[in-house]
Amino acid sequence: MTRTTVPAGASLSDPVSRRSLLGRLALAGAGGIVAGAIPARSLFAFTLPPIGTPAEALKELATGNQRFVDGKSVGPHRSMARLKEVAPSQAPFAAVLACADSRVPVEILFDQGFGDMFVCRAAGNIVTPEMLASLEFGTLVLGAKAPLVLGHSACGAVKATISGDAVPGQISTLYQYIQPAVDRIAGQSKDGKAELEAAARENVRMQTRLLGRSSPVLRGLVREGKLAIVGGMYDLASGRVAMLD
Ligand SMILES: [Zn+2]
Repeated sequence: MTRTTVPAGASLSDPVSRRSLLGRLALAGAGGIVAGAIPARSLFAFTLPPIGTPAEALKELATGNQRFVDGKSVGPHRSMARLKEVAPSQAPFAAVLACADSRVPVEILFDQGFGDMFVCRAAGNIVTPEMLASLEFGTLVLGAKAPLVLGHSACGAVKATISGDAVPGQISTLYQYIQPAVDRIAGQSKDGKAELEAAARENVRMQTRLLGRSSPVLRGLVREGKLAIVGGMYDLASGRVAMLD
């Protein structure tokens, strides 16, 4: 298969990358591939820029989310060729602790694919021992540069913690992790929606701090400049991720 590269940050709607791609497809056709017989997307592979630092990893996350928000996702690294390429080993550039909410599909909203992101998910994006261990594995062993705690608007886990209502099964075991954030913003707003958003943001900040504080492994990587632990909020309505201070 002919592999054609689309530079990071470019999309098929950009004149330069479109010209470049069309030119390469013409060459592929001259070489015996009938472009019309193969879905266009399968004819090219996306190449990430070199990512060796936390800053470069965060830049690619921001760039990918911008492509998604702009409706210019290239859907990189989602081919069978990429699947086979990373089947023997993985080297994700970012690790994410996200909520399990079905409206927060991490690879889609950052416009990434197979092998790019080490994603851990739990309702309320909470740092449990299992999540912490997973993120240590994703960073220390696999080399991800930027563990990102990703909360989102209208989070059901945060809302349930605020209400404190009785719930069936083990659901209430989530509350203990989120309650400190709810307590911290209590009384700051009389508006229920604003209170929920503030609590979700505070929860991200607290989980992000907890990640750094409770893991000597991660702290060591941060001290060496190999890692940046960051928090962000995903807006369900716009698709945009805003990084928190
Ligand atoms: Zn949620």
